[in-house]
Amino acid sequence: MPARIIDGKAIAAELRALVAAEVQRLAREHRVEPGLAVVLVGENPASAVYVRNKSKQTVEAGMRSFDHRLPETVSEAELLALVGKLNADPAVHGILVQLPLPRQIDSQKVLNAVDPAKDVDGFHPMNAGRLSTGLPALTPCTPLGCVMLAKSVHRSLEGMNAVIVGRSNIVGEPLIQLLLNENATVTVAHSKTRDLPEVCRSADILFAAVGRPEMVRGDWVKPGATVIDVGINRVPTPDGKGRIVGDVAYAEATQVAGAITPAPGGVGPMTIACLLVNTVRAACAIHGLRPPAV
Ligand code: NDP
Repeated sequence: MPARIIDGKAIAAELRALVAAEVQRLAREHRVEPGLAVVLVGENPASAVYVRNKSKQTVEAGMRSFDHRLPETVSEAELLALVGKLNADPAVHGILVQLPLPRQIDSQKVLNAVDPAKDVDGFHPMNAGRLSTGLPALTPCTPLGCVMLAKSVHRSLEGMNAVIVGRSNIVGEPLIQLLLNENATVTVAHSKTRDLPEVCRSADILFAAVGRPEMVRGDWVKPGATVIDVGINRVPTPDGKGRIVGDVAYAEATQVAGAITPAPGGVGPMTIACLLVNTVRAACAIHGLRPPAV
């Protein structure tokens, strides 16, 4: 039987509706209006589309959106000055600096300059450290969305064998801790892993975050396993337009898996929805309010 398709678009839409309800409650009960500032440097077309979607969904959820566009040639000092201004702005509860940044800028220095309380991307070392020591933290959006998608299939992940392929600071690394928090048994694979197909076949839940188009084949998937495909890869097509594929060979894997996310339409929509979740969480924490229901 072909796998159940995990509809990331629909699950993200439900999550955004919950965020919108929390935003209304905050306005009604506390006169707090969460605000998200997004900083885009340069003209990278993929980043521009992503930032546009973020702003649109922020406004649709009833929050304030502050967009800052800086030229490709901006200096590190100018960007740091803007981050400092946003840190001090009481209308801003979340700050996101869109990556990648141009070469003249030290990205880590910029991420470190964001106030950890407003770090809705969860990339500040303070939040990474808090997450890995089990303290409340703003958590990177993509892994947060991955866990929500896995939990849309399995009410509890406790005792399940979770395999993550990829160990980046943005996805794989924080996902380890989030899955441990769910009491899953976690294995992390990477470019030096021996016999990757066999490691993947041990997974009850397989997370692919590699950045290599369709690398995970159907016969790497244990029959009935849940597959969460984080990959977003553009591959060429004869008409020259290209198309997006994930890190998993979807057509093959759907014949084996119990449930699977499509790419696009799986993890991607969840990433932005989780950014809105983090912004509401940050606003509550900054104003000393109880955490939101999302
Ligand atoms: P990185 O390039 O930062 O990390 C890739 C990871 O995959 C590394 O840990 C690397 O191992 C591992 N890897 C690379 N090649 C192999 C291989 N042949 N076998 C096993 N492991 C391998 O990528 P990101 O984590 O930033 O992104 C991963 C994918 O997720 C990309 O397709 C990206 O576009 C997508 N993405 C999607 C998002 C979304 O919203 N849906 C958000 C963020 C990313 P090593 O550490 O040993 O080098």
